Amino acid sequence: MLGMTQWRKEHPHATWAEIEAAVDERMNQLRAQLIQDVVQMGESEPWSEMPPEERPTCATCGKPLSARGEQTRFIQTTGGEAVKLTRTYGTCPACGGGFFPPG
Ligand SMILES: [Zn+2]
Repeated sequence: MLGMTQWRKEHPHATWAEIEAAVDERMNQLRAQLIQDVVQMGESEPWSEMPPEERPTCATCGKPLSARGEQTRFIQTTGGEAVKLTRTYGTCPACGGGFFPPG
């Protein structure tokens, strides 16, 4: 599981602390991967293709946003792993506000 069997073979004399650290590292990676997967589930299609009434709206004035292409950012999780997010970035045609959906 999670490569721990192999790790244990390579570290037959690992201390409790070393085992704990190795497990923590894998849990953090798994956690980050899971967060990324769950977040990406929320955006299966680019909303630039959607009709205006289904698009995200401006937080300031409520107008449907204009898509401005994809942007990728990395978010640090509490476990210390970075989660990569790719989102369609939009701007408001009415007030010019930028918008990057959080998830
Ligand atoms: Zn606006």
